[in-house]
Amino acid sequence: MEHKLYIYNTLTRKKEQFIPLHENKVGMYVCGPTVYGDGHLGHARPAITFDILFRYLQHLGYKVRYVRNITDVGHLENDADSGEDKIAKKARLDQLEPMEVVQYYVNRYHKAMEALNVLPPSIEPHASGHIMEQIEFTQKIIDAGFAYVSEGSVYFDVEKYNKSNNYGIISGRNIDEMLETTRELDGQSEKRRSVDFALWKKASPEHIMRWNAPWSVGFPGWHMECSAMGTKYLGEEFDIHGGGMDLMFPHHECEIAQNKAGLGKDSVKYWMHNNMITIGGQKMGKSLGNFITLDEFFTGNHKLLSKAFSPMTIRFFILQAHYRSTVDFSSEALEASEKGLERLMDGYARLQKLSPSATSSIETAGLRAKCEEALNDDLNTPIAISYLFEALKVINSVHDGKATISVSDLEELQSVFKLMVEDLLGLKVEATATGTNEAYKQAIDMLLNMRLEAKRNKDWATSDKIRNELTALGFEIKDTKDGFEWKL
Ligand code: ZN
Repeated sequence: MEHKLYIYNTLTRKKEQFIPLHENKVGMYVCGPTVYGDGHLGHARPAITFDILFRYLQHLGYKVRYVRNITDVGHLENDADSGEDKIAKKARLDQLEPMEVVQYYVNRYHKAMEALNVLPPSIEPHASGHIMEQIEFTQKIIDAGFAYVSEGSVYFDVEKYNKSNNYGIISGRNIDEMLETTRELDGQSEKRRSVDFALWKKASPEHIMRWNAPWSVGFPGWHMECSAMGTKYLGEEFDIHGGGMDLMFPHHECEIAQNKAGLGKDSVKYWMHNNMITIGGQKMGKSLGNFITLDEFFTGNHKLLSKAFSPMTIRFFILQAHYRSTVDFSSEALEASEKGLERLMDGYARLQKLSPSATSSIETAGLRAKCEEALNDDLNTPIAISYLFEALKVINSVHDGKATISVSDLEELQSVFKLMVEDLLGLKVEATATGTNEAYKQAIDMLLNMRLEAKRNKDWATSDKIRNELTALGFEIKDTKDGFEWKL
């Protein structure tokens, strides 16, 4: 396939030309959410980053199998081998079945992703649906001599693995230092070394999510699901594995070690990691009080937000930074993105209505190549967006009668904008009352004012018709003493 897509491979720490393992097929795995709470910006960024890659690879002509998992078991509170399961804890607090918690938050996650125009993956496997595969994978690692059973739990033997492999290959952590500094703590737990990590954990009596395994009734270690599901659906070797940078250690380091130990080979050719989103320079966290869910962004219902921000504004805000740069969120930054997006979408709408002339008085060629060049350079969306903004000047000068554009130039410009704005960046016009579409708001107000007038004239048929038809379209209408309120 003819293209020059380069991506930054976290494993080699280099930008590399993307050459898939199979001629025109690409296998891509991305770590999805642990579903014990509502999605936040930290979920939106990897979803949007790898959505761009998914869209772009398909644009280049590849058949992409995109697997994004749902973590619904085994992710313990402190990301290590102790603490309560995050799902089980939420279930206990809310007096629900763990799978009720999972279903509830998966539904909400899907709704948020749809609002953000993130395409659904090809396969979305749940960890809890792949317990057998995880047990089998764990057995392979034991058979290969890289794991040991202790008190019914199974641990990965990091020190032994590191003798013939490199534990730390992706995170850059120095295993010798880790072994050295943790040595004195060892001997106090069922693990041989505190750097060892669980492949299977024996369930304590109060642990409710439990399954039968050869070693105990228990549950898989968190990292095991991605080894098992990635290779089940994409093969023992596949092209791309992605996720947030925060997953690099221990999650991805452990996954690499598991695959190498269990399968005798490296499974992933290109590792890709998106950077984090900070708030006022600080990490986001529930305990820091700066944790804003996607729903809170969409409704504006949070003390750090000046107003509601539409899903497309959030998407555009994320795409205005390169995925490997940090992004610092603030209400002001989002307001700037909102204005930028409005300018872009207005220009795109204006482009559809331009009238062509016999000849072009301005240069329009080269936009497609420039945008593709930007995306080929490790998905540089901010540069691609800046080229679109440059082209807006051309659109505006033709619109204002200061320049002319030929039929073929106009068609090409329209085609590039459609490709970039809609197909690759995944931006769309939003019809929400909280969005920027003032005319739409006014049109609904006008209809409801007509209904008020009909009511005053005791024309109940017209009044009911307006109300019923708006309700059928999804509007919620409330009569108040001053008139009405509505929302979609
Ligand atoms: Zn994972």
